[in-house]
Amino acid sequence: MTVDLVTSSPLGPAATDQDAKALQFIEDMTKNCDSIQKNVLSEILTQNAKTEYIQKWNLKGATDQKTFKSKVPVVSYEDLQPYIQRIADGDRSPILSSHPISEFLTSSGTSAGERKLMPTIAAEMDRRQKLYSLLMPVMNLYVPGLDKGKGLYFLFIKAETKTPSGLVARPVLTSYYKSPQFKTRPNDPYNIYTSPNETILCVDSFQSMYSQMLCGLIYHQQVLRCGAVFASGLVRAIKFLTINWKQLALDIETGFLNPKITDPDIRVCMSKILKPDPDLARFVTAQCCEGKWEGIITRIWPNTKYLDVIVTGAMAQYIPILDFYSGNLPQTCTMYASSECYFGLNLTPMVKPSEVSYTIMPNMGYFEFIPHDSVNSVSNSDDSPPQLIDLADLELGREYELVISTYSGLCRYRVGDILRVTGFHNSAPQFKFIRRKNVLLSIDADKTDETELQNAVEKASELLKAFNTAVVEYTSYGDTKTIPGHYVIYWELLVKDPGYGPSQEVLDQCCLAMEDSLNSVYRQSRVADNSIGPLEIRVVKNGTFEELMDYAISRGASINQYKVPRCVSFTPIMELLDSRVVSTHFSPSAPHWVPERRF
Ligand code: AMP
Repeated sequence: MTVDLVTSSPLGPAATDQDAKALQFIEDMTKNCDSIQKNVLSEILTQNAKTEYIQKWNLKGATDQKTFKSKVPVVSYEDLQPYIQRIADGDRSPILSSHPISEFLTSSGTSAGERKLMPTIAAEMDRRQKLYSLLMPVMNLYVPGLDKGKGLYFLFIKAETKTPSGLVARPVLTSYYKSPQFKTRPNDPYNIYTSPNETILCVDSFQSMYSQMLCGLIYHQQVLRCGAVFASGLVRAIKFLTINWKQLALDIETGFLNPKITDPDIRVCMSKILKPDPDLARFVTAQCCEGKWEGIITRIWPNTKYLDVIVTGAMAQYIPILDFYSGNLPQTCTMYASSECYFGLNLTPMVKPSEVSYTIMPNMGYFEFIPHDSVNSVSNSDDSPPQLIDLADLELGREYELVISTYSGLCRYRVGDILRVTGFHNSAPQFKFIRRKNVLLSIDADKTDETELQNAVEKASELLKAFNTAVVEYTSYGDTKTIPGHYVIYWELLVKDPGYGPSQEVLDQCCLAMEDSLNSVYRQSRVADNSIGPLEIRVVKNGTFEELMDYAISRGASINQYKVPRCVSFTPIMELLDSRVVSTHFSPSAPHWVPERRF
């Protein structure tokens, strides 16, 4: 038997020589997980030995795991915030990283209502790029012929701001799409997008979406895969089509671009792509005019082989609607990443969403894990320091919280993600994403925790005081049956003077007051991205929350320990709550949000 040494790989037959190299890289990384992790830590500590932060822990030049673990504490964002603030204020001394901080990445996780700021260095962009370069070689193992067409990806940038000292602060994907690595990427037949860079690089979300959708329709026969980063993005794009198809069809019929698209770069690039095509306009109209959206993705883009969207974690709520829109096309989750660090990829991307596991690439950073169970939890009562475990020593079936140390200078930083080990590829563990800690509600990139929700309820209930009314109980629900999804807050009120309770208008204003109090990622999603709909308050009959407790107790909850769940999704509970609703209220306008942030 002859084996083609260039294109064979333990993961499968590579599509090209370049793919073979990428697959070999994955093999090398995953076979030598432990030694690579030791090297990465040593490199990070050597590179950052002279930083104020590393000096503080008195490592005396040591770069080994044992010394590192015994001297450097595990931290969260709040611990690093004073260092980060100094960098933002213009202190250019080596505080966390010996390499110059090139920019701040603003995460969708927030601290005091604002996106967390993650300092990053130029070299990290190459590391991210490296991980991206592994995705198609893996996909090509499972889906042949992806070089014969294009990918329809809805990709967006967001507004960026500057710190007082002039460093740019923006989300990691905005940084990536604006980088030369993305903008001047080499022509690769496996990575051709329908969206020209100009349409992606427009900060106005309507113009960007409109022009990307228009290109998607123009190239509809060539589209082999459809996607967005997160499932919520693709759902939003299809909803956009359902609202804007008439104008899009008109543009295609006449060859004239919608005058609402005013961005000069988009207009120039669309003038080369958009030509009058009455047949295509008729096709789009025929698919959309009856308002039937089942299978719309496969009807408009008939050659689509799969949807490329993350549907793990909080995004799992969008699986049914994507099944509906696409006639059950496979939904592939290709990678797992964050602003702090890109972690890894899915080596079997065609598996069902519920079976997705990510393999953390040991070259991306140094990874440690806090066992996330009662026996050995970091929050155990004896206050003993948490026992952190290395990537190569994790046990199958156990859950862990991810802790990272990065080249940019994060040391033993708790990301907040809980992962379960589901298997191994060579010696590298593979993880199912279980959940993010402390997230109660999430529709798009927003992550709202219990304290934020509590504060929002308190702020809104101030408006009720004038009516001698108080919120006695509340719970919440992330409603993704509407598109875009929205927060629903159930309120049980105590109206002390029934003749003088709050009016409909006051309760509408309560919705807005809650929104104004939520974090900036929520408000940005509402205002700039339109990816979250107006917040809804459903006032329920008196006694409803007692019934809720009775229900929980009937199912085995202890009376002594019963706490009102601050977020619900279990169908019988939803049915109970909804059957007791006496009035519903929506935010009458958008909350306050401006691109500039507080530093
Ligand atoms: P950000 O810091 O805004 O970039 O958000 C990063 C977070 O998004 C991660 O820490 C995860 O909680 C979540 N996330 C990223 N990738 C995935 C994925 N593939 N599946 C589930 N959650 C993810």
